[in-house]
Formats: sequence, C-alpha cells, structure tokens
Amino acid sequence: MFQKILIANRGEIALRVLRACKELGIQTVVVHSTADADAMHVRLADESVCIGPPPSRDSYLNIHQIVAACEITGADAVHPGYGFLSENAKFADILAAHNITFIGPSGDHIRIMGDKIEAKRTAKRLGIPVVPGSDGAVTEEKEARRIAAEIGYPVIIKASAGGGGRGMKVAHTEADLEVALQTARTEAGAAFGDDAVYIEKYLEKPRHIEVQVFGDGFGRGVHFGERDCSLQRRHQKVWEEAPSPALNAEERARIGDICAKAIADLGYSGAGTIEFLYENGEFYFIEMNTRLQVEHPVTEAITGIDLVHEQIRVASGGGLSVKQEDIKFNGHAIECRINAEDPRTFTPSPGTITHFHTPGGLGIRVDSGVYSGYKIPPYYDSLIGKLIVHGRNRVECMMRLRRALDEFVVDGIKTTLPLFRDLVGNADIANGDYDIHWLEKYLAKGE
Ligand code: ADP
Repeated sequence: MFQKILIANRGEIALRVLRACKELGIQTVVVHSTADADAMHVRLADESVCIGPPPSRDSYLNIHQIVAACEITGADAVHPGYGFLSENAKFADILAAHNITFIGPSGDHIRIMGDKIEAKRTAKRLGIPVVPGSDGAVTEEKEARRIAAEIGYPVIIKASAGGGGRGMKVAHTEADLEVALQTARTEAGAAFGDDAVYIEKYLEKPRHIEVQVFGDGFGRGVHFGERDCSLQRRHQKVWEEAPSPALNAEERARIGDICAKAIADLGYSGAGTIEFLYENGEFYFIEMNTRLQVEHPVTEAITGIDLVHEQIRVASGGGLSVKQEDIKFNGHAIECRINAEDPRTFTPSPGTITHFHTPGGLGIRVDSGVYSGYKIPPYYDSLIGKLIVHGRNRVECMMRLRRALDEFVVDGIKTTLPLFRDLVGNADIANGDYDIHWLEKYLAKGE
C-alpha cells in the first residue's frame, strides 16, 4: 500500500480523495494555487505545497510543479481527481518515469479513449454497441454526403479530440451538411488543435446512461451498474441518478455484462465510465472516461462501496475488494450539482459565502469543500458542492431530496439550489420521464 498520496486537484473532489486516504491510513499531500491557500482540503491535509498562481495552466495543470511537489514530499502516488490532469496521458507517463504511481489507468488506455475515433473503434472491437456512422475521420464533403445518406438524417458531426460538448454540429438535411462539416472542423481546430471530425447518426430523444466499470489490474473487469445523467444543460450534467428510471433488469444486466467483459478484454486497470446514449431499448456508445466521475457518489450510495478506496487498492496492486457477485444494488440515489451560479442565467456567482448550512439525516450526503466565510475564487469551475440522497426506492429518494433541499442554506452568493427545488416538484421528473433535451426545453420555457 502507498505511504503518501499527493492529490492533484482542488475543491470538493480533493476533499473527497483526502477522506479516503485518511480512512486507509495513508499520508496526504495536497497541491494548491495561491488562490486556494484557505481551501478546506489544504487545511485538512498532512502537508500542502503551493504550486503557482491562480490560473490553472500555471498551477493545477503544471506537470513540472506537481512532479516537483511529489519529489519534495516523497509522495509515492498521485490521485488526479477529475478534470485537470486526470485524463492526460503524458502526465501518467511522466509519473511512471519517476516511479510515482498514477492512480488511474495506463497512459496508453487514456490515449486510446481520449481520441474519440480511436475510442469508438476500440469499443466496437470489444463488442460494445456504437452509434452508426463513419468508420474514421471525414474530410471530404462528398464522403460526408455518402455516409449521411447511408445512415440517414439527421446526423451529427463531432470532433475526434472533442470534450465538454464542443465542436459538435447537427445537420438535419443534406443542405445543412456542408456548413456543419466546415463549422465543426474549424471549431475543433480552434478548440483542440486537431480538426479531425467524424459523423454519427443523430439520436433525437435519447437518454444519457453510463456504466461504472473497474478493471482490477489482473485482467478482470466488473461493473457497478449504471447512472442516468440525462438532465443536462449545454452538455453539462446537472442531476444524476442510479439506477436509471428507464432501464429494466434485463437491460441493466445486459449492458453491465458487455461493459465488464470489454474492460477485462482491454486489460484495463482502475475506474472508468462507459457512456451511452439510450433510445428505444438500444444502447449506443459515445465515449469512455478513464477517471473518477463527478457523479460517482450515486453509485456508492446504491452499492455501499467506496470507489476511491477501490481506485487506491487497484493502483497499489491489491486488486478490487469485491467480485461481480458481491456487488448488490440497494435502493435509489440522486445527486444534485450545486453551482455558484445564477439559477436562471447560469452566470457564475463567485464571492464570499456568508452562511453555509448543509442538510443531514438518514440517506443524506453532502460532498463540498466550502464553509461559512469561504471566498469562492473566480478562476475555476463553479461547482461548490453535491447533494446526494439515498432512499429505499425512487419515491422515498425524491421525498427525502425535497426535504434536504429545503434545509440547505447557502447565503452571500447565488446558487443553483432554487432550480433543484423546482425540479423536485415537476411531474415529468417525478415520473422519471425525461431525455437529454428535457432540461434545456424546461429552462427555455422559463417555468
Ligand atoms: P463530449 O466529450 O464533448 O462531452 P460526447 O460524445 O460525450 O462529447 O457527447 C456529448 C453530448 O452530445 C451527449 O451527451 C449528447 O447530449 C450529445 N450527443 C453526442 N453524440 C450524439 C448523437 N449521436 N446523437 C445525439 N446527441 C449526441
């Protein structure tokens, strides 16, 4: 087991990982920018190292500084959290070259899944169902037209190097195709320095369903069930739940088994998420994330298993603490992402939190790095906390969520809490009847 883990992240996830390390009796080092000197994870860590000024590229993305912090403190492993360097293959390789364990998969697996064309090819080869579309990159309009005609309109053009929903364009008819192709390529080139794009059938009313997987490092794979993350705004997840209200037991077992087997065949090590669009009983692979997800706590709630403990165990060579047959699903969980944003316009609302009071009681978990008097710096993501609620079934979970949202107090800044108070009373949400466009439409109506 590791002696000392360096946590290369900030905010709620840095604290989340720190808690797991403490439970496992592992020493902790955190790195932070000058803007985060007062952060909770910095206060609670055994050691902290300031690695640079506020902009992420000079601090949380500064590989050189982070490796230096490992050497100075003698950390033998790095947990990257999510975002920042968590899916940076070069970072994983550099750490390996310094004999520091990257708590995550190999650089090669990160690289494959980071290139969406390569990821889709790999998924297909591993028997994962994919969205019909081009086999690889498409550059010529003529070729694009042929493929689009074959799979049928509407189609979506996506950037191979894509992420965060950028560089995607939908073409509803052949007349839209040329412009869509050009715009997608230009945007992809500008955003990612790589203008390779590919074409897929555009699914009109899918749900976003993702499967939590783990490779144990010894060629075995397991799944921890699915999460439904269909409630999104600008491709950003807002509300996540497990299990999905849309799947039946047969579908759940089928897609879980396919994913676990794929992970085993890939020889993957650590946590991963295989993301699908789901429509009319069919799953279509869109991407795989090779890291811990923001929404992992809903899976922890229904399985009772600490996924960060498992990540650390696997990275240290100790394998998983559970086999597939030990993973049992119990009840229902929902996570609300609480952002420091105006709940109507979604403009960021940094500033000082004058009062912070979290709900409690059975089935409630709040993962947050903030506290009363904390000043939210303007430089980073606006996520300030996550409310995760568990109940024996979805109805009980919703009742408890409504109560917990009423108790939650964040004063001094604007947050998205009022949005969740609206959503929890909505009939479609109560019925689990929503697709990936539902939230945008709801917000456009200004209800
Ligand atoms: P990114 O890595 O940029 O997040 P994804 O491939 O994960 O890109 O897609 C992000 C979102 O874009 C999906 O959650 C979905 O809302 C939409 N999307 C992607 N591919 C399709 C498709 N073939 N049909 C419909 N919507 C899609």
